[in-house]
Amino acid sequence: MPPTTLTPRPEPGPPLPDWLGRLLCRVGWHDDELLDASFGFAPRETVETVRCRRCRRVVTRRGRR
Ligand SMILES: [Zn+2]
Repeated sequence: MPPTTLTPRPEPGPPLPDWLGRLLCRVGWHDDELLDASFGFAPRETVETVRCRRCRRVVTRRGRR
């Protein structure tokens, strides 16, 4: 057993293990963060651009306030 030395990460990583994050992305449960939000065509409709923190997939989706 090597000595257990905790190597601090330069930035806070995802709270989930990598394998679990990839699994969740595989089943469509992405860890989206909002990149941009703008108004859609219809009143009260918004178009959001989100990106997954894990697999970097970027999608735009419509939502309502
Ligand atoms: Zn993802």
